[in-house]
This record gives sequence, C-alpha cells and structure tokens, in this order.
Amino acid sequence: MTKFIVVAGGVMSGVGKGVTTASIARILREYGYKVTAIKIDPYINYDAGTLRPTEHGEVWVTDDGGEIDQDLGTYERFLDVDIPRKNNLTTGQIYKTIIDRERKGKYLGQTVQFIPHVPDEIKRRIKEASKGYDIAIVEIGGTIGDYENIPYLFAMKGMERDIGKDSVVYVLVTYLPIPSHIEEMKTKPTQQAIRLLSETGIIPDFIICRAKRALDKIRKKKIEIYANIPSEHVISEPDIETVYSIPLDLEKEKMGIKILNELKLKPRRAPNWTEWKKLVSRIENPKKTIKIAITGKYVDIGDYSLADSYVSINQGLLHAGAALNVGVDISWLDAKVFENAPKKVNDLKDFDGIIVPGGFGRSGVEGKIKVINFARLNNKPFLGLCYGLQLAIVEYARNVCGMKNANTTENDRKTKFPVIDLLPTQKEFMEKSDYGGTMRLGAYAAILKEKSRVLELYKETGRLKDDMKRIDNLKKDKNQAFRLGILGTRENQRFSGLQKSKGFLRENKNIVLERHRHRYEVNPEFVDKLEKKGLVFSGYHLRKDDTKLMEYIELPKLKFFVGTQAHPEFKCRLGNPSPLFYGFVKTCSK
Ligand code: GLN
Repeated sequence: MTKFIVVAGGVMSGVGKGVTTASIARILREYGYKVTAIKIDPYINYDAGTLRPTEHGEVWVTDDGGEIDQDLGTYERFLDVDIPRKNNLTTGQIYKTIIDRERKGKYLGQTVQFIPHVPDEIKRRIKEASKGYDIAIVEIGGTIGDYENIPYLFAMKGMERDIGKDSVVYVLVTYLPIPSHIEEMKTKPTQQAIRLLSETGIIPDFIICRAKRALDKIRKKKIEIYANIPSEHVISEPDIETVYSIPLDLEKEKMGIKILNELKLKPRRAPNWTEWKKLVSRIENPKKTIKIAITGKYVDIGDYSLADSYVSINQGLLHAGAALNVGVDISWLDAKVFENAPKKVNDLKDFDGIIVPGGFGRSGVEGKIKVINFARLNNKPFLGLCYGLQLAIVEYARNVCGMKNANTTENDRKTKFPVIDLLPTQKEFMEKSDYGGTMRLGAYAAILKEKSRVLELYKETGRLKDDMKRIDNLKKDKNQAFRLGILGTRENQRFSGLQKSKGFLRENKNIVLERHRHRYEVNPEFVDKLEKKGLVFSGYHLRKDDTKLMEYIELPKLKFFVGTQAHPEFKCRLGNPSPLFYGFVKTCSK
C-alpha cells in the first residue's frame, strides 16, 4: 500500500515548496523506493492552460497533453521520470466531477455536500495517481491559512484515519524573514503557520525552515517547543546557489532516514549521489561560461516582471551546461526593443548564442524576426522553440525565398504568403471560441531525417534509443499510441476506423517524442518552396489523415541554426539533457 508525505507551506508562497517536495522525492528514490509526486492547485480553473504565464509562471505540459502548474516540471527534472496529468488536482476538477456526476443522477436521493463528497473525490484522485508507488508526496499549493486549501488538508487528515498514522507524514515548509531594519531572524510567522495548521487537526512531523541564512540554535529551539516536535525534525534550508544542491543539503541533516523512520520503513539500498554531486559542482563552478540571449516577451506585473515564464528553458540550458561543464549566463531581452530601435540588434554580437522562445500573439513578433535574421546572417548559433521555429520560417520566406510580407496568420491574417497557418481542425475550434485544452498538446512522435544535425544530436545524447524504447512500450496503450501517432498501419486502421488512411508511421526507426503546445503549423503548401531554397526540414509528424506536420528545421551550412515546433525544454532533466539544448550549448561554447 502507498504511503503519503503531505507537504504544505506556511507564511507565504514562493519559498520553494515545489523544490523541497521534489528533493524529498529524489532522496527517497535514492533509498530504493518507487516514488511519485502529486501537486494540488486549489484554484477553480480546470487546469493551468488558461492562466497568465506572466502572473503564474510558465504552463507545464505533460506527455499526455495536460496543461499544468510548473511544479510538475520541477518533479520531473529532479526525478527524471514522466509524470502524467492525473498527478495534478485542481478545485475546478473536483467540483466539475461532482457536479457532472450529480447531473447524471449518480447521487439520486442524496444531498450532495462538501462533506463527504469533496474530500472523497480528493482522496479518490490521490489514490488513483499514487497507484503502483511505494510513496507519494502530495504538495498542497497555496499557504496555510488560505481558505481554499482547507478541503485538501481535511482530505489528507481523513486519509490518515483510513490508513493509519504510520502511513502519512506531514511536512511544513515555512519562511523565516530577516527584516533589514533589525537584521534578526524572526520565528513569529512560522509559529502562526503552525497554529493555523493545527486548526485542521494536523501537527507537522517535520518543519523545514527556509531563510536567507541557516537557522541558529535559539530559533530552532523556539520552533521545536512551539510545535512540540523533536529538535531533529526542525530542518534548516537556507538559500543556496542552485536548487539541485537541496537534496544533498537535506541529506546532510539525514532527512531521508528520518522520514523513512516516521513511515516505519527501512532503506532498501544505500543512496548513490556521486553523479548528482558532480553535476551540482559543475553548476556551481563551471569550467567556462557562455552568454546567451533569450529574446521573448516580458510583461510586468506592477513594478515586477517575472522571468518565471521561461523557467524550463532556463533549466534546459542549465542541464546542458552541467553535462558539458559550461556555465550559461542568460540575458532576457525584450523583443520589442528591436522593433523600436532596429540597430540595437547589432548588440547581439556580444552573445555566444540566441534563443527565440515560444510565445503567442503579435507583440514583439517583428523584433523576433529581426533577431533571427541577425543570427542567420552572422552565423550566430540559434535555437528556435515553437514560435521561434515559426518565425524563423517567416524570416526565411521573406528574405531568402522572396515572399514579400510572408507571415504567420497569427500575426497577419491577410498575408499573401501564409507560411504558418491554422489547419482546418484548429480553425473550427477558433470559430467556436473553444480555447480550453484545444491546442496541439502533449507528446507527439516525429520521424527524423537521416544524416540531419537533429538526428545526430538525438543519437549523441542517447535520447533516440530511449524514445524508441518508450515507443515500444507505449504501443501497448492503444489510446496513447493513437494520440501520439505511433501505431503501425494495420493496428491504427483497426483502432481508428480510418479505412482510407495509410496509417501513421510507416517507418519504424529514428522516431522521437517531444511535447507540444501550439495551434499554428508550418503550412504544408509552402514546404517544397522553402526546401528548394535550402531550408532543411529535419523531422515531421505524420497525422492520421497523412498530413505531414513539420517538426524540425535546420540550416546545415551554419554553425548551429535549428528550430523545433515542439517544446524540448519540457524534457530536460539534470543528468539527462535535451538533445537540442545540448547541441546548442556545445556549439556556443566552442
Ligand atoms: N503562437 C504559436 C502557436 O500557437 C506558437 C505557440 C508556442 O510558441 N508555444 O502555434
């Protein structure tokens, strides 16, 4: 039976609950346990797809097409596993399920009420997501004292009653401020958080104290007495240079063994941190450092602007850098700047490489196209991600293929050369204003071109082998296989009833999987023309109606000019970097 660790946060948000959760998960895995992590988001949105990234941080995409809070990304990066969408619960999902059931008459004769229906549905989902795992870590979003996370704390307390205290451990992550006018670390907000948590019947088994500096003896004692827990269970987690050292720091305090003891479990093996330590030390002291410009769209909230909207790209570069022993110094440049002052594009000379990331809408588009033009003409290593690929194609169409004012129809509906356009299915969604969860989402298979740079990188990093193995396993799950486009001809026809279709992947080699989140596609009508002028399409996805969707481009004559329709940044892990990020950083560091 699965055991649970509940992680809740006190004092304020943004103190690193997600990273702490991921670190604990990683530690327990090192002791030989099968571990997963579940994130609870107490908002009423059904999923994170419709949230504003500049306010809430980047939207994370799972293999199975979920649009989720970025904490799931943190879990994947620490655990190096794919976590499915069911590992994210929102209040919207809970209520929608209950109300849908009520409408279908599933509760006939009953009054549907908060208790028991809401906690029951929460527990059902948590059990479903944790099936097959020894330990599931449940991170409860928000801060203790928020009205909206009470149902989840209540449900977990109920779970404890169902399965026993030996099977549920509570961890409170709090923050201890050091106000600059007194320069003293204050424990009061933490005391308040402990008291608020106790109102739900929960006494934390562990308190992790986040702060600028390490906790001293006096303050540790205060917290220990206030919470009435052993002093070894008050754990200090001061700010550090890289979040990847947190599992190592927590292990210095024997966190793994202490939690296992609480859960009445014994280590199954001795942890091996050798490789992890090597990567962390490279992040902290790289042999050399490169300078990368990321030209995106940054919207300010009040007086603050959030670089969080590109957190995965940041991580992708970090992981590639760790693998190559190269530090990556990122400058976030607002693409709009190059629209107002086109000459400024020459400042990009000072960088070793340029990334144009994903994005939506018109803002900054012409600036990004100028940046791509600069990269192409000056042979600066360039990586285009999603919108970045689309705009690289627009640039090439305009400036190499002579298609004046070529554009994506997202930016100019009436362009004579719609090189990037909505395909018919997406047009239908847009006509019906059907925005939620209707993009091309999640993992899709791409067949890579022999001898292409892209294929070589998937080989070099070992990803091609891994993905081919995953594809073999996924074929067993017909629903997934159908969605990904990896079924063979016959099976596929049988499954989809598409008698006329020649099927998905006729080839059975050089297939990789990356995650997607976009509506627009390279317009199939222009592929030939672009190819004739030297643009290489180095991979495509074959849809069930035999439409080829272009997934990768490259310009082989340049040092590194690669674009992808996918978001490879969603498949970057420490110790297992993404092939395109790896190739990009490697070229930039030469
Ligand atoms: N706006 C583009 C589209 O919808 C690209 C999306 C993205 O970069 N994620 O296709």
